[in-house]
Amino acid sequence: MLSFDLRTLESNAARVDAVLATSDGVWLDSDVKPTEGVHVTGRLSAAGPGRFYFSGQLAGTSRDSCRRCLVEVDTNVSDDVHLLFAESGGDADEVEDPDVFLIDAREYHLDLRPAMREQWLLAVPALVTCREDCKGLCVNCGADLNLGACTCAPTLDPRWSALRSLDESAR
Ligand SMILES: [Zn+2]
Ligand SMILES: [Zn+2]
Repeated sequence: MLSFDLRTLESNAARVDAVLATSDGVWLDSDVKPTEGVHVTGRLSAAGPGRFYFSGQLAGTSRDSCRRCLVEVDTNVSDDVHLLFAESGGDADEVEDPDVFLIDAREYHLDLRPAMREQWLLAVPALVTCREDCKGLCVNCGADLNLGACTCAPTLDPRWSALRSLDESAR
């Protein structure tokens, strides 16, 4: 469970130890999702009237395509998370602050899922490569050059192609 009763939280901090599942409705199709959910651990406590503080960690495995050869790459992701939740209608500065998550004062529950989704997306690497020296795909035939050279002719240096077209038009 990643949803907490606000009235209980006012008097007692909650220990958070839950998994935001890959199948959860909070994810968008375009998100780099965790392969087996995001494990969220930490502590959620009241931090003054209408304010709650989460301190903890998230961990999971992201799966994305190598930007050079498109093979799927799994990356272990873990990050410290410190978040402040504040009831909307409070301090105007907090409304502007992107690090403060606003919660509806009429709600009885604090749902950590949207914030954890956001933190996860910030933590996953933007561009992954399967290995440092990935050779990528041939731009001509699409062959995976990590498996060996393809049969395409070596690409000409673009500086020579201008000369070659001159040569061909002269014939
Ligand atoms: Zn690759
Ligand atoms: Zn090729």
